Amino acid sequence: MNRLNDGILYEKYPFTDSIYFECDDGWFRILDNLFNEISPYTTEDNEFIVLQVKEKYGQLRVYVSPYIQEVEDIIDVYEKISLGTCEACGIEGKLVGKNHFKVLCKEHETQWKL
Ligand SMILES: [Zn+2]
Repeated sequence: MNRLNDGILYEKYPFTDSIYFECDDGWFRILDNLFNEISPYTTEDNEFIVLQVKEKYGQLRVYVSPYIQEVEDIIDVYEKISLGTCEACGIEGKLVGKNHFKVLCKEHETQWKL
């Protein structure tokens, strides 16, 4: 993601500030909503931290510590939402590709193939 979006997430969600977001800006809103929803489960006591955020086989993957079932359930929901959201721009998209996969809208799929 671009530095501006990175900075917004680091500032709003300090438990993300040690990582690099390994995905494109179209998923910014997904991450913003996801982190907002898991915030109540993050405390100084449990030393909650996001370990990694990346795109894998076209889908968003978010890894956190410690393991909290409620948080994992929330992450599952947003990982599924990512499968219908263009990673480049955030509008509706679908999983495309053969050897490498990405979720893209029609316009970004065309650009990606060039
Ligand atoms: Zn797009």
